[in-house]
Order: sequence, then C-alpha cells, then structure tokens
Amino acid sequence: MRPDILNPLFAEVTALKGVGPALAKPLERLGIARVVDLLFHLPTGWIDRLPRTRLDASDAGRTIAITLTPRDIRSTGSARAPTRVQAADAAGNIVSLVYFGGSSGWVKKLYPLGTSVRISGKLETYGQELQIIHPDIEGDEGFREREPIYPLSEGITSRRLAGLVEQALARAPDLPEWIDAGLKAKRQWLGWKEAITRIHTDPADQAARTRLGYDEVFANQLALMLVRADTRRRRGRALKGDGRLRDQLKLPYALTGAQARTAAEIEGDLVQEAPMLRLLQGDVGSGKTLVAALALLIAVEAGAQGAMLAPTEILARQHYETLRRTLAGLPVKIAVLTGRDKGRAREATLMGLADGSIDILVGTHAIFQEAVGYRDLALVVVDEQHRFGVAERMALSAKGRVTPHLLAMTATPIPRTLTLAQYGEMDQSRLDEMPPGREPVETRVISEERVDEVVAALGRHLAEGKQAYWVCPLVEESEKVDLAAAEARAAALAAHFGDRVGLVHGKMRGPEKDAVMAAFAAGRHGVLVATTVIEVGVDVPNATLIVIEHADRFGLAQLHQLRGRVGRGGGHSMCLLLRGNALSETSRARLALMRETNDGFRIAEEDLRLRGGGELLGTRQSGEAGFRLVAPEQLGALLPPATDDARLLIDRDGGLDADRGQAARTALYLFERDAGVALLRSG
Ligand code: ADP
Ligand code: MG
Repeated sequence: MRPDILNPLFAEVTALKGVGPALAKPLERLGIARVVDLLFHLPTGWIDRLPRTRLDASDAGRTIAITLTPRDIRSTGSARAPTRVQAADAAGNIVSLVYFGGSSGWVKKLYPLGTSVRISGKLETYGQELQIIHPDIEGDEGFREREPIYPLSEGITSRRLAGLVEQALARAPDLPEWIDAGLKAKRQWLGWKEAITRIHTDPADQAARTRLGYDEVFANQLALMLVRADTRRRRGRALKGDGRLRDQLKLPYALTGAQARTAAEIEGDLVQEAPMLRLLQGDVGSGKTLVAALALLIAVEAGAQGAMLAPTEILARQHYETLRRTLAGLPVKIAVLTGRDKGRAREATLMGLADGSIDILVGTHAIFQEAVGYRDLALVVVDEQHRFGVAERMALSAKGRVTPHLLAMTATPIPRTLTLAQYGEMDQSRLDEMPPGREPVETRVISEERVDEVVAALGRHLAEGKQAYWVCPLVEESEKVDLAAAEARAAALAAHFGDRVGLVHGKMRGPEKDAVMAAFAAGRHGVLVATTVIEVGVDVPNATLIVIEHADRFGLAQLHQLRGRVGRGGGHSMCLLLRGNALSETSRARLALMRETNDGFRIAEEDLRLRGGGELLGTRQSGEAGFRLVAPEQLGALLPPATDDARLLIDRDGGLDADRGQAARTALYLFERDAGVALLRSG
C-alpha cells in the first residue's frame, strides 16, 4: 500500500484550483494527470528577467521588467492588424507594446492612459523603434527574476503551468530521506522537497537536478535489485544435463565463439539451484535460437520441461518449426500452443504438458494461462524480452512447484549504460559475433523524389526471381493516414507487378496476416508491402532487398531491426532508405550511421549519443515506468553510485524495515516502482 504521506501527490490534477476539463486536456497531452506529474514536469530552461528603469536599445533580444506610462493607443480597427500601445519610461523613451488578434477594447482596459504599469517581455527593435510583443503585466506576486521554461502543449501557457506547479509545490509533503547520509553530505544535496522546489524556481541549479535524477535512478535500481534478491531467494531446481541429447545434434555448422561462450554461461547458471535470471543480447541473425535450443535440451536431459515464449503468433510458429528442424531425429517431443489453438488439438497439448510427454512447448502468452499446467517446468526462454513485463514474470514463477530458470533474449542491442538501468537485475550475455560468411547488408540513403528509380530497381530484382520487403511506417498518432499510405503504395506497386504484391499490416486479423506472410514465405508474393509488423522474427532468405519509406520517421534501433530481415543467407542484400528532403542535422547523421555500419551495438550507442536516448529509455514496457527526471546524459554518472547504494541497502536491510528502508519504500512508490515492494520478504 502506498504510504499516506504520498497521497497529496497522487491526487488528480483536477483537484487543483482552476483546473477544469478545458485545461485537463492540454495537461493530459503533456502526460500530466496527477499532482506528482506536475512536479516531475521539469523546466527545460529558464529566462533571466532584467529589472530596468530605462529603455535601452542595447537590451534588445533580452527579457526586461520595467515600469512604463501608456501615452497613446493605436489601432486600425481591423481585427487582423495589431494594437499598439505607446508607452514611456521615466526618462520619456518610448516603446510600442504590441498585441495581435482580437479587438483593441481589452487592450485599452489593460492600459489606462497616464497610469503607470509594470510590464515584462522581450525587448525588440523594429526599424528605429523599440517594441515588446504581448508583454506580461505584473500581478500581485511581482515578477520573478528567473522564470522557468516548461515544455508546453497547445492550450496552456508557461505562466499558467508555472502557477499550477506552484500549487503542486504547496501540497508537496516533506518526505523521509532515502539517500545515504554520507553521500548526501558529500554532494551537498538538499532534501527532496527543497530540491523539487528549487528546480522549479531556479532551473539552473545543477545540484538540485542531480539529486532528483539520483532519486529516480536509485528507486529504479532498488526495484531491480529487489527482483534479483527475490529470485535468488526462491528455490529453483538445479538442471544438470548429461549431454546425451546435445551430442546427437547434427548441425550443418560449428557454433560461433560467442554462441559457445554464452551457452557455457547458461549451462553454468542452470546447474545452480538458484533460478537463472539472464538476458541474452544478440543482434538480428547472431544465432540466438540455437543458444536457446541448447539450453532447452539441457532441461530435457535433466528430465524436466522447457517452454519458449514468443511475442507473436507468427514468431511462435516459426520458432516451433525451427526447433523441430534443428532437433529432428532427437527423442524430444515439441509442441506449439497459441491463442488460436482450440478444441481437440489444444486438449491433447494440455494433456501432454501435464503428463510430461511433451518436453518443449513453444507459444505465445497462451502458454501461461490458468488452464495450462506443466508436469515439471524448469526453464523458460522468452524471445524479445522488451515486450515482456514483470507481471508476466510473476505469473510464470507461480507456474512451477519450483521457480523456473529464465533466459530472456533480445535482438534490440542496448547501450551498456542502459542495460544496467533496464535490466540491472539480470546477468548479461552478449552474442557479439555473427556466424561466418554473413555479408553486411549494403545500405543506401535515397531521396523520396527518386522513388520511380527505386520501383524500377525493384522490378529488376523481382525479375531475377528474388524477393523484397517494402516497409511503410505506421505510428499510432497518424494511424489512419499511414495505413492509407501503405495501401496506396501496395496499389501503386500492384500496377507494375500485379499479384506479385502482398500487403500486411498491424490492423489485419491474425489468420489474414498469417496467410499473407505464408504466401510470401512460399514465394507466391515477390514483394511484401508491410507496416512494421515484420519487425520481429520472420525468416525468408530469398528476400534480399528491403525498401524503407520515410526512413527518418523510424528509430535507429527499429531501422536496424528491419534491415535485419534481409541478409539472412541469400547472398548479397540491399537496404534502401527513402528520406524526405527537409531533414535535420541529427536525422541526417542517423541515416548516415545506418549506411556506415551493420553493428547493432554500435548503432545503439551512437543513437543514444545522437538523440539522448529518450526512446530507448522508454522502451521497457508492460507497466514499467520509464525515466522522467533523469536526463540521459546524467545517467552514466548516476547509475554506478545508485546501483551500489541500492545493493548495499538490500544487503543490510533486505526487508526495508529500518528507518532508511522505510524511506526507500516511499521512494519506490513515488517513482511507481512499487512492484518491487510486493516482493519484499515479510517481517
Ligand atoms: P537471431 O539471433 O536473430 O534469432 P537466428 O537464431 O534466427 O538469429 O539465426 C539466424 C540464422 O543463422 C539462422 O538461419 C541460423 O540457422 C543461422 N545460424 C545460427 N548459428 C549459426 C552458426 N554458428 N553458423 C552458421 N549459421 C548459423
Ligand atoms: Mg530470433
């Protein structure tokens, strides 16, 4: 249960004065629904307001505060022309205060002629004159010398937002201190409430910013360490394989060094009684499936069962086929189970799982449903970990009499700093070596204006009997337009290539989608127009060309994933990135990087550097909050001390019972990492 002291922070923002439905909308767009969200909506910059007694052209471009006397008000009477207030400082220097829009009536009310008024705004020169556009008029509280600049959305001004933040700060309680006293003293950090107040009044205060960032990282690391400690405490089952199945494997190739190394790391975990908690990172095509297969065989050799979870129906079936092919001839029974399996077949699978005649089950989330009971589930492999949250993990632990070992796999290379922040509770293995003979995918960046040439090249490609993907973006905000664009592209290509063109998109129903994919895999379609649904998995070696439209709208990690659809053993492969013409420097640099390298780990590191990593930080989904206070460039420096401190705290007070432990619980709730609290040893 959330500590009562936090209740004022988790109240709806509509509880604040002046927040009605009209304001709630723009706030919602900013991700602000509760009081705490306002506090965590940190200023991105600030303006310094210079107090002045005289107007001076040398202040042009700066924000000043000054007392003026209105002398004259001019308006043309037209609603579109601005209203200009001629106002003078004490020395008689004149400035125009300019108001656009609406009638001049309300401006006249604001500025009674001859009555002095204190205003503030950005001084500009306009020809020979000085002017200030839409100045603020001083209210009862006076002008602040330093004013925060907040990220805004349409319908709310910075001033309005600052007013709400002020109300939120007034409600903020003094929280117990969770930071180690020595560290706090050494860094000369303020207490939490003082720090959050300070950052909103003086956004330039680095110490306050650092402390708040530290809090968030600390809470995050603490939650991860709690998951880790909980796993370590659980009783697992040591799996000792005797090699009898693995010895019978007939592979057409030798393991890569990286595969052998990671397989050994996993084997080393499995012989322990404490459940394994390991993340296997490996670029697309690095051969993760085989490593998973070896781990599953160890479980079977040890007389237990293994399960492999895939994020989609298509992938589950593909993994099933791959495993069957890889393990052909071995006395191992493999089955597949997804939400689409019904009736007799499903019953038979459930029976086989319960009586232990099925050794390995591959499937989607359906494999963790209530009705699915295993005889002896001892290892779970999760493909594409980033789509798999803590809740599923808990459901899974509840499945076996003992907690199964967990091997999570991801093809999204994650920069090292972020690995610690996102998967700090797991041991790490990296497949940093590609199977031999894999040619890098040749990548070119091409202007969208040259799409006709690209279509011609596609025609030649198809004429050679080879296949291709044509990817169109589909993002939620512009879903309808994007979908229409994908359909239009498919139609345009069909005008050239007829029914050689298939279309698959995320809005299609499962069976429909599978049918198109199957037709493509079987070679009945030459080109598959797709929204990003092909991102994960899907193996068609004969597809050696991928065209990606609006490449600048994709994240780098996503582009890299998409590109990984080609170059899967079918010889020379090519990736054409179509770009718009008005690209920012960063977009250009990002696309250039794609052209330059095929190394996913490098792309991830550079992407973090180029973009600040906002997208990556937010990617761990399924109920896990991303970071809101810590800036990506702070993360590298804050992670090591926060991780050490979290670990130390758990070593000393694993139940978080003592004073500091209780304070740390508050931090977990404040940052909504409270799934960790549920795992605390009671008492
Ligand atoms: P991913 O890591 O993307 O899941 P896969 O497991 O699908 O990669 O492997 C990609 C391809 O590489 C598959 O066709 C697989 O058979 C092949 N492969 C895996 N390991 C090796 C190896 N050691 N040598 C050669 N080819 C391999
Ligand atoms: Mg894979």
